[in-house]
Amino acid sequence: MKESLFSFVQPPAGPPRNAGYDGADFRELDATELYCPNCRRAVPVNKFLLLVLPDGDRYEYRCKYCGAKVGDKVDHSGQFYGILKG
Ligand SMILES: [Zn+2]
Repeated sequence: MKESLFSFVQPPAGPPRNAGYDGADFRELDATELYCPNCRRAVPVNKFLLLVLPDGDRYEYRCKYCGAKVGDKVDHSGQFYGILKG
């Protein structure tokens, strides 16, 4: 559903990855369950947007039951990135 953004953000030629842009292949891996070391099981998580950086949006995942941080990620193809470029 974000293909239209990719098409004009992505440079026509260049390194496909590790150049500050890897959104095309890394689409929507939003986790809904992650392993929580406190609960010792896979748990549903809440996703928080922590920071909007020039190279991507930083998210953090927290356990819905105990609130422990169970993961994070930087989304290089976030909507804010598209807005900044556009
Ligand atoms: Zn937990």
